[in-house]
Amino acid sequence: MIHGEIHQNVRQYINGRWETSATTGVSVNPSDTSEVVAEYARADRRQAEAAIRAATEAFPHWSHSTPQRRADVLDRIGAELIARKEELGLLLAREQGKTLPEAVAETARAGQVFKFFAGEALRGGAGGGGGENLASVRAGVQVDVTREPVGVAGLITPWNAPFVIPAWKIAPALAHGNSVVFKPAELVPACGWALAEIISRAGLPAGAFNLVMGSGREVGQALVDSAQVDALSFTGSAANGERVLQAAAARRAKVQLETGGKNALVVLADADLDRAVDCAVQGAYFSAGQRCTASSRLIVEAAVHDAFVAKLRQRLKTLKIGHALERGIDIGPVADEERLALDLAWVEIAREEGAEHVWGGEALERSTPGYYMSPALFLAKPSHRIAREEIFGPLACVLRADDYDQALALCNDTPFGLCAGICTNSLKHAMHFRRHAVVGMTMVNLPTAGVDFHVPFGGRKGSGYGPREQGRYAAEFYTTVKTGYMLA
Ligand code: NAD
Repeated sequence: MIHGEIHQNVRQYINGRWETSATTGVSVNPSDTSEVVAEYARADRRQAEAAIRAATEAFPHWSHSTPQRRADVLDRIGAELIARKEELGLLLAREQGKTLPEAVAETARAGQVFKFFAGEALRGGAGGGGGENLASVRAGVQVDVTREPVGVAGLITPWNAPFVIPAWKIAPALAHGNSVVFKPAELVPACGWALAEIISRAGLPAGAFNLVMGSGREVGQALVDSAQVDALSFTGSAANGERVLQAAAARRAKVQLETGGKNALVVLADADLDRAVDCAVQGAYFSAGQRCTASSRLIVEAAVHDAFVAKLRQRLKTLKIGHALERGIDIGPVADEERLALDLAWVEIAREEGAEHVWGGEALERSTPGYYMSPALFLAKPSHRIAREEIFGPLACVLRADDYDQALALCNDTPFGLCAGICTNSLKHAMHFRRHAVVGMTMVNLPTAGVDFHVPFGGRKGSGYGPREQGRYAAEFYTTVKTGYMLA
């Protein structure tokens, strides 16, 4: 695909065939709304059900494929993503709005995820080396514990990371022998299609992988409701996650949720302030703050509060906001008109509830029509809504803490628990924080956003439910355990 060209062939992939739908939709470039990125077929419930049937029929064959075959398929997908990272990164930057370097890096990481799980198919997967052989407590009996695929996996993903989040669900699902129905977010159909197109040529049997694009309410809900979908992995908002959880529980499907965050970055008085400002800028504002791991609460010890805020304000003034493909841009547009309106509404809420405005928060005009906004910073109180609710945009607030103990208490005073960071030169405080922050991931002297792909990812409290994603731990969700007894 080249810049400015309409994508023509964005169709569903069901049972090994590309299918049109009765209705179509378009995705537009948030950096330049005059540019259509994709015209895509919008599946209805009937097509979602056909995809589920195809996955159900493919499961017996794929689930008994050799680990070598699965490894080869995943390795091919990963290699192609990495080889085409510039071209696919360009597509991602055009459709989602993150800067080109961020988009290329995400594409490469999606490739690395597939390659990691190619290894997992051999090392730790269902039918691979993941089992245990134990002595029984009874004489003459042998016991083994093996992992088996779960069945049909329904994978529902958000728009903010349209290659890597699908990759970290599709790759382990296939590695462990499950068949897949993948539903990407409506804002990013071309990315979903590009990924599916690569997967379609990787050597899977028909039906083992299916793509259905369409609305959450119709297509997503069809996956959630279907008795044939054995495992549901959902990344998205807390409210939709709750609906998925209730429906899955009612029919006893395996379910995994990755939902929002309100992540804190704690800055102690002994921190390297330049590093702390770097961590805050990257964590809070890069990718326009549209990351579940974004640092939206900057909790700063009183002794360095004013100096930190002054330095951060200086940095925010220098950030370049513009078209995602423009060289030297730090922050692209937000994802769509609705997001921009919501982000600007949060700026109003911050002002109305008495938070002190430090910088930004305005809609910006650029040479192309797009959803541009200056990064916003406020000084808030812990009770303010901007300090409590997920915003998912380029807005962060600073909370003042008297000391480390209060900073930790503020960090944990949230319904969310995805990740938390601390900037400090104190080993004692760093170690204490790692143990006592009630989250799934901690970062010391690093931004809260930016994680590795070979270790677990996920959160606690309102940020997640079920086993973690990524790394070896992905097997917890994508396999089920069987215990076998045999008279020796
Ligand atoms: P969203 O909940 O609106 O949509 C996520 C996906 O769910 C989309 O594919 C959507 O079509 C689908 N969906 C919507 N309603 C559904 C329903 N009733 N049944 C089944 N599927 C349905 O979220 P979004 O706006 O696309 O993404 C932003 C949210 O995602 C933020 O809250 C963010 O924190 C969260 N997120 C979390 C993580 C994480 O790993 N914790 C990562 C990225 C994004």
